[in-house]
Amino acid sequence: MSYVDEVLEQVIRTNPAQPEFHQAVQEVLESLRVVIEKNEDAYRKDALLERITTPERQLLFRVPWVDDNGQVHVNNGYRVQFNSAIGPYKGGLRLHPSVNLGVIKFLGFEQVFKNSLTGLPIGGGKGGSDFDPKGKSDREIMAFCQSFMTELYKYIGADTDVPAGDIGTGAREIGYMFGQYKRIRGVFEGVLTGKGLTYGGSLARTEATGYGLLYLTEEMLRCNGKELAGKTVVVSGAGNVATYAIQKAWQLGAKPVTCSDSTGWVYDPDGIDVDVLKDVKEVRRARLTEYVKARPNAQYHEGRGVWSVPCDVALPCATQNELHLEDAEMLVKNGCFAVAEGANMPTTLDATKYLQDHGVLFCPGKAANAGGVATSALEMSQNSERLSWTFEEVDSKLKTIMVNIFHNLDNAAKEYGMEGNYVAGANIAGLLKVANAMTAQGII
Ligand code: NDP
Repeated sequence: MSYVDEVLEQVIRTNPAQPEFHQAVQEVLESLRVVIEKNEDAYRKDALLERITTPERQLLFRVPWVDDNGQVHVNNGYRVQFNSAIGPYKGGLRLHPSVNLGVIKFLGFEQVFKNSLTGLPIGGGKGGSDFDPKGKSDREIMAFCQSFMTELYKYIGADTDVPAGDIGTGAREIGYMFGQYKRIRGVFEGVLTGKGLTYGGSLARTEATGYGLLYLTEEMLRCNGKELAGKTVVVSGAGNVATYAIQKAWQLGAKPVTCSDSTGWVYDPDGIDVDVLKDVKEVRRARLTEYVKARPNAQYHEGRGVWSVPCDVALPCATQNELHLEDAEMLVKNGCFAVAEGANMPTTLDATKYLQDHGVLFCPGKAANAGGVATSALEMSQNSERLSWTFEEVDSKLKTIMVNIFHNLDNAAKEYGMEGNYVAGANIAGLLKVANAMTAQGII
């Protein structure tokens, strides 16, 4: 049995009931086969793949909190410190009822490669809780965040592990967590990113993932003889990533026509109105049914369905496994020629393969959505310097990073004879740096 197959089999056997983690490892290892097989004996002797697929540390803890009626609730808290070979652990905190250890491990594993691709000195980690922020009062959110940080603070720090936002963890939650960390530790340090601008946050961090996605997509299209301007773009999600992807798509001359949330989706033939979307989702925290009330030409549909809208470019920006094989078939049938993932692992393995087999330019999330973590690393730099850069400064660094990421993975794919396979390119480029650093640091 090949080394890759051996490790895959072992990961599935020793991490039972963690399908998302298995999927992420399988996607990475399959596309790395050609690299591993070139150095199989050395990698096997050093157990490099076993080490890279096993988190350095997995923290599971109880998070008790009291609701507005005095009722005590208990949630599960997680922090998986996956790999610190190239820098302090870095990765977001997800607050969503679907969170479990397997989900956090898949996200942490992907984060290792993503962070490596940015070219910045950051290792990979991820955390969160199965707490559902929806429908909770501000006081209940604060109670949860303070309790969560009362345990988490023991394991994090500006030079060890720097968490950030993710699904369900926005500026409000980061603020409550930062306040509690500072109160317990008595130090004002850049222990979290995604902070508010008045206490160490970076300009352009809010926009970074969505903007970065579009910078990379534009470069991918340009290098393939196409352009983004004038194209119809279909976006899923209506959160942080989707909103700023839609905004930047407009700025680059494209027309984004859809968005979605966990209950339904909107098609706006005139293009999504970003101000209305922000008002509904960021200010009023309401459902997308409110969007169509303000935009009479727009249509609201229950359930899933954005991928049925004809488009040139598709940007899944909601959550994992939201673009299935039948969606990929529909996209190809309708003439879509590029898919770039704003969310983490939104495309299933069979859908990815179908898109690639049908000549669709496909950029995986670990590269396409790396703008968020890259700008988080820029926030860490500003905190260390005790300086704040202008929006334009951060945005221009972000654009350079995204363009470099694309060329990095494009070149890696070419070097290993897989031109145009950006999934393989991202995994190869991400792995080589981490593997070299791990090897240099000995068996740890
Ligand atoms: P948000 O919580 O701001 O938004 C998530 C959006 O996806 C919401 O519209 C939500 O709907 C929808 N959604 C969530 N779960 C589901 C589901 N099961 N089915 C359908 N829709 C769903 O999160 P972000 O925009 O920050 O994150 C989106 C994705 O991007 C995630 O995969 C995240 O890991 C990834 N990512 C985020 C980064 C960031 O900087 N924020 C950085 C890199 C990756 P509803 O409004 O109903 O909750």
